[in-house]
Amino acid sequence: MYLTSDSHPFRQTKIVATIGPATDSEENLEKLIVAGVNVIRLNMAHATPEWCDERIQRVRKIQDKLSRSVSVMMDVKGPEIRTGKVDEPIHVEPGEMFQFYIKTAEPPSDGMKAVTVNYPDLPKDVVIGYTVLVDSGLIRMEVVEKDEERVICKVLVGGEIGSKRHINLPGAKVNLPALTKKDKTDLKAGIESGIDFVALSFVREAKDIRELRDFLSDHGSNARIIAKIEDHNGVNNMMDIVRATDAIMVARGDLGIEIDYHQLPIVQRQLVEACRLHGKPVIIATHLLESMIDSPVPTRAEISDVSNAVREQADAVMLSGETTTGEFPLEAVKVMRTIIESIEPVVPYDLNDEIRLHEPKSKMLRSAAVLAQELGDDSGIVVFTRSGFLGYVLGAMRAKGVPIFAFTDKKSIYHQLTLPWGIDPFYQEFSDVDPEWTIQQALATLRDKNYRKSGSTVIVITNVIAGSKIIDSMQLREIP
Ligand code: PEP
Repeated sequence: MYLTSDSHPFRQTKIVATIGPATDSEENLEKLIVAGVNVIRLNMAHATPEWCDERIQRVRKIQDKLSRSVSVMMDVKGPEIRTGKVDEPIHVEPGEMFQFYIKTAEPPSDGMKAVTVNYPDLPKDVVIGYTVLVDSGLIRMEVVEKDEERVICKVLVGGEIGSKRHINLPGAKVNLPALTKKDKTDLKAGIESGIDFVALSFVREAKDIRELRDFLSDHGSNARIIAKIEDHNGVNNMMDIVRATDAIMVARGDLGIEIDYHQLPIVQRQLVEACRLHGKPVIIATHLLESMIDSPVPTRAEISDVSNAVREQADAVMLSGETTTGEFPLEAVKVMRTIIESIEPVVPYDLNDEIRLHEPKSKMLRSAAVLAQELGDDSGIVVFTRSGFLGYVLGAMRAKGVPIFAFTDKKSIYHQLTLPWGIDPFYQEFSDVDPEWTIQQALATLRDKNYRKSGSTVIVITNVIAGSKIIDSMQLREIP
């Protein structure tokens, strides 16, 4: 996948695609994967565990058929405040008063337009003067009065309030659990079906990540965690969250509602930088090619947005509506891939010197990256990893132009290596008695599958047995 040839076009930034009715058949999934999708996202706001299980099995079948690693991310819905059920959408006009009341309270007796909310602490958490946004920010109100059971707002921007509409409270510190009952049910089923990543919505603090990690380990899962940053709390606690999580998603849909819109590029850059410091993958999500939901070509601004994410050195860019219900899902993936392939060669990637993980080993990996760059186009790094750690660190180095062939003998790690920048995962058995056999198998795979030509020199990172010790080594090897 990462060699400069027709069979393996070179690309280091990864593509995440959310699937839905437009793409979830076996045939369409295969087309998406062939077009370049590395991670398939299942959005649990719109999916059932049964639907997911079938799609995961389809992805596995295609992966085996194509001999290409593809991972599955389950994006759990997380804690959300929503309006209750209404018989007819309620029309609200600017200047009008509107009331939100908790489910155990009586509707207003004075005829004021009103709707219930699913969050009993709403009156406690808002302050007079706070903004309340309904339906992804389309309707805007200001809190003018409250008691223990209700919040009265003045409508600033009107519209139609339907059932189960999303409510955002920019700046409020809400007291909702990190994982809802539905999230836990979805996760248990996802773990059974073999998910590789869990994206956790509305991560507010590092504690939310620890709660999910405990849940995953209690249920025997080693799925990696992607923290979705989508509100003020997540932004304020970004450093702690980055330290606690395995990866970050800049969830610009909600983030763009919860913080001032003009701050969004600044926060995106801060998150990418925080991830670079800690060697954690970062995904830029939402509205990258939004117009392609119903247009076969992107807008000029979207081309710049994808290009900017590549220049900022994000690990991955993500498609949502474009590939769930859009009319041109395959075109959207191709456009994304083409922009990445066009922009990467002009990005002045410097080797990431910030990573301080396992010091001497990181330094050895850095030397391998420098050496591979000096050896030129035919070279590359071959790494053997059982935990995925070396692959994740090598990806975080941002070794421009250097293919990193990461071999593992664990299926889950084979999948999880699809996310970090520049890593090309391979699944292979490791011999515990003859490490040379393992190396020779890997080199032969690279040759046989046309990733590297016979005679090219690659750098192999592997453990070797020296007397009674196992030591790290970096070796120059020729492809047989
Ligand atoms: C987002 O808000 O940008 C996002 C990715 O989350 P969701 O699709 O769950 O709203």
